[in-house]
Amino acid sequence: MTTLEDPVTQVRTVTAEIDGRSVTVPEGTTIYDAAKEVGVDIPVLCHNERYDPVGVCRMCVVDTGGRVFTAACVRPCEDGMTVQTDTPELRRNRATLTELLVSDQPPRAEDPKQTTTGDNLLLDLADRFDVARETTELPCDSGRGQDSSNPVIDVNHDACILCDRCVRACDDIQGNDVIGRTGKGYSTRIAFDLDDPMGQSSCVTCGECVQACPTGAITNKAINNIPIQPREQLDAVDSVCPYCGVGCALTYYVDRSRGAISFAEGRDQPGSQSRLCVKGRYGWDYAASPQRLTVPLIRVDSSYPKGPLSADVRGENDRGRVEGGNRSGGGREKKKGRDGRRKPGGLVDYDEVMPHFREATWEEALDLVARRLKEIHASDGPGAIAGFGSAKCSNEEAYLFQKLIRVGFGTNNVDHCTRLCHASSVAALFEGVGSGAVSTTYSDVANADVVIITGSNPTANHPVASSFFKQARRRGTKIIYVDPRASTVAEHADYHCQVKPGTDVAFYNAVMHEVIRLGLIDRDFIAARVSNYDELARTVADYPPERAAQITGVDADLIREVAKVWGEAGAAVIYWGMGISQHTTGTDNARCLIALCSITGNVGRPGTGLHPLRGQNNVQGASDAGLIPMFYPDYQGVDRDATRRRFEQAWGTQLDPNRGLTVTEIIGSVLKPGGVRGMYMLGENPFLSDPNINKVRKALGALDFLVVQDIFLTETAEFADVILPASSYLEKDGSYTNTDRRVQLGRKVMDPPGQARVDWEIVQDIAQRVGLDWNYSSASEIFDEMVSLMPSYANLRYDNLGLSGKLYPNADPEHSDGTVVLFDERFNTDDGLAHLVPAQWLPAKELPDAEYPLVLNTGRLLEHWHTGSMTRRSYALDTISPVAEVYLHPKDAADRGLAHGEMVRVRSRRGVIELRVRISHREQLGNCFIPFHFREAAANLLTIDEIDPYGKIPEFKFCAVQVEALGAERVESTATAGVGE
Ligand code: SF4
Ligand code: SF4
Repeated sequence: MTTLEDPVTQVRTVTAEIDGRSVTVPEGTTIYDAAKEVGVDIPVLCHNERYDPVGVCRMCVVDTGGRVFTAACVRPCEDGMTVQTDTPELRRNRATLTELLVSDQPPRAEDPKQTTTGDNLLLDLADRFDVARETTELPCDSGRGQDSSNPVIDVNHDACILCDRCVRACDDIQGNDVIGRTGKGYSTRIAFDLDDPMGQSSCVTCGECVQACPTGAITNKAINNIPIQPREQLDAVDSVCPYCGVGCALTYYVDRSRGAISFAEGRDQPGSQSRLCVKGRYGWDYAASPQRLTVPLIRVDSSYPKGPLSADVRGENDRGRVEGGNRSGGGREKKKGRDGRRKPGGLVDYDEVMPHFREATWEEALDLVARRLKEIHASDGPGAIAGFGSAKCSNEEAYLFQKLIRVGFGTNNVDHCTRLCHASSVAALFEGVGSGAVSTTYSDVANADVVIITGSNPTANHPVASSFFKQARRRGTKIIYVDPRASTVAEHADYHCQVKPGTDVAFYNAVMHEVIRLGLIDRDFIAARVSNYDELARTVADYPPERAAQITGVDADLIREVAKVWGEAGAAVIYWGMGISQHTTGTDNARCLIALCSITGNVGRPGTGLHPLRGQNNVQGASDAGLIPMFYPDYQGVDRDATRRRFEQAWGTQLDPNRGLTVTEIIGSVLKPGGVRGMYMLGENPFLSDPNINKVRKALGALDFLVVQDIFLTETAEFADVILPASSYLEKDGSYTNTDRRVQLGRKVMDPPGQARVDWEIVQDIAQRVGLDWNYSSASEIFDEMVSLMPSYANLRYDNLGLSGKLYPNADPEHSDGTVVLFDERFNTDDGLAHLVPAQWLPAKELPDAEYPLVLNTGRLLEHWHTGSMTRRSYALDTISPVAEVYLHPKDAADRGLAHGEMVRVRSRRGVIELRVRISHREQLGNCFIPFHFREAAANLLTIDEIDPYGKIPEFKFCAVQVEALGAERVESTATAGVGE
């Protein structure tokens, strides 16, 4: 056999003839792929280009002149091979195969579940080969049964043809490893875990298997009784998931006759590659909640003086009031509706709260907002005004909101929830490498030999990114997982360093100590591209692994081994989460990660770099757009004279030369004389998201004026003087920037309900009323102005973002996806060098003691998002994960005599909540974990409001608590959330 080498690419190639057409392809290319290249369509059933081929169904067999037909999806082309794909015999073969498979299918009634999304490939083949869709020649009841145990996915085993597409989708694409096979002969069927019902298995309801199934054996259930129609009857709207910073591309299929989404599906894009998690695929029905705000509301006179309005927000519950007025009941059963489904729980009761507001016209509400904010500005000065924007809103909305606060009110008191997630990472990155954005993408892990995932639970918080991490490991990348919790990703890791909470600096200093001792540093890189190495080396010299082992609890030998593995890697990358950033030492933690990458030369090449996994869908974009108190758009400092003059010229006004207050400082300032008196809250819900809620409650109640613009009556809105009904993500166009620096377009799916309006238009209306001459007519017009002030976004326009979006920086968006790896030649610092900043380990601010012996860690669940305002109104998400729980190590539970599902009281020095126990082997002895999404058991009643001195981020990951039995009440946990967590 002759194999030629392409003179340009040096790749060995073969030339074959397929249906008379000559094709030259790289060696190893399958006949199926080669045929596609020359426009020959070979029918397939078990094959899909997203999965490794297995050749089990034989639908794609072709004639290569051999003794038997061969499966085109697995057989590689050979040089000189002649292939026939469509002879009469092959057609007969495929028709017979199709007829046999169709014969064994259950009856195809009008039941839409049977055709799901109209993608029944088997029935398409029946049409293609002229086989009757209904045949009764064979018995069509395998007795394998149905499984409806998952709230949003149905399984009809009788329709399964055992093509293994779902198995490969679950294992190879999502890395969830849930589906296998069980049984023998005709009774063989797919099985979830050990043949458990799907809803009780470790399935995380990502829906990848639904997207994969070619026969309708695994199908979506209707959500909110909106029947699922075949896709050709629906409007396809290409958009982006509104939840986490991964920013998966998706398509919403919209039933215009019902004005509702029918289903959602992953869409190809270089980052997410058609994958989704449960939130993206099934969590979109929140927008249709009957609790949507549809009319402007003004607080009635009788509801002054202001205070919280509902029992949850007042700090009461149905069992009365306890000391501190902050008791709540998180674990109680939810009522069932008439349809037998559990009603969404933990939501505001409108009957309780709405009587405190009256409906108003937009004119009246907007006039009142502008008048009151102007009055406070006039009487107390610019510093008395502050604005919280939202990382859920688009880049354009973030840009316009910060511009309003800066230009309209002359203050830089504007911030958003980046302060609560990665502010310390950004502070360290700016100082170290001169840019707050990631230096490479999450899918670049494919090019890494070694990856450190630290302070992160990506299977819950960044599920699709985690699927790339798991996939990389299958291909040989070593995963070092450094985290106090044994989250699911620990099961996919080569090394799990289960550090004690708050000891990251000691751990990473010891790793660097060993890297230096073993001579595994990159001396050339350090000499050419790094400053302050000597001081770093002196600092980490004091952290031998034995000392770090005492502080961190990680065995010294494991630290040595991890250091060696990292130091010897050709390419190594670090992904980190809020377990690194949400500490009073968050900036120091991130400084250590920057130093570890820098001294080993692991920045600026494929498979290397620094990536703080950003939380909300647009936290990167909102920060880029200037929704932070110290920077104008693109991180241009407000306190730099030349910069400020440039913005003054662009915006036509004089600007405040002083840095503004951060989220946590604004809340604190309200309680001080001369502090903030009036606030504009756009889509932010500090009552649940900020630390030490008792303090937040006082601050919100003490404001002279609060306007809240949101889609629901949030806990924060209970303190509002005016509430403006806004648009959900699904009801507007806008651009959003994901954790990879990918700027993508979210497209309008439906109209806002009632009188609710698009957010940027509301901001503009207020701007006009405070005297600004704004007349933007579209989101793209705002985008163009924003980009003109942001060198990093240069060249991007709405019309060149395309369906996949573009990474920034991007010199040529018309032809390029953008820059994956930053800092290949220089860092963004003034001198182009990475500035190493050594850090000494410091203990957390509030250590456990005899009275409060456990360390509390707070965070997220897979099914919920931020303060739960959207996810708790999603049928799928709230059904899977309906109640608040405290996760306890089995011994900590046993020491307190606690059983799984039992109600307990968790108390810190700041508050007390009541919720159920979840006994979890994932917790460390002496630690507990509480998700912060649940208003009826708000974890932030317990957290401490100490902040990192640089990033000003609160210490959400560490405070001391006690857990005690509540008494008689013991209920079975119904939650399936985090089965894998
Ligand atoms: S929904 Fe996702 S996790 Fe569950 S079985 Fe299907 S592919 Fe696997
Ligand atoms: S991984 Fe994040 S962006 Fe992707 S579907 Fe899930 S929540 Fe949405």
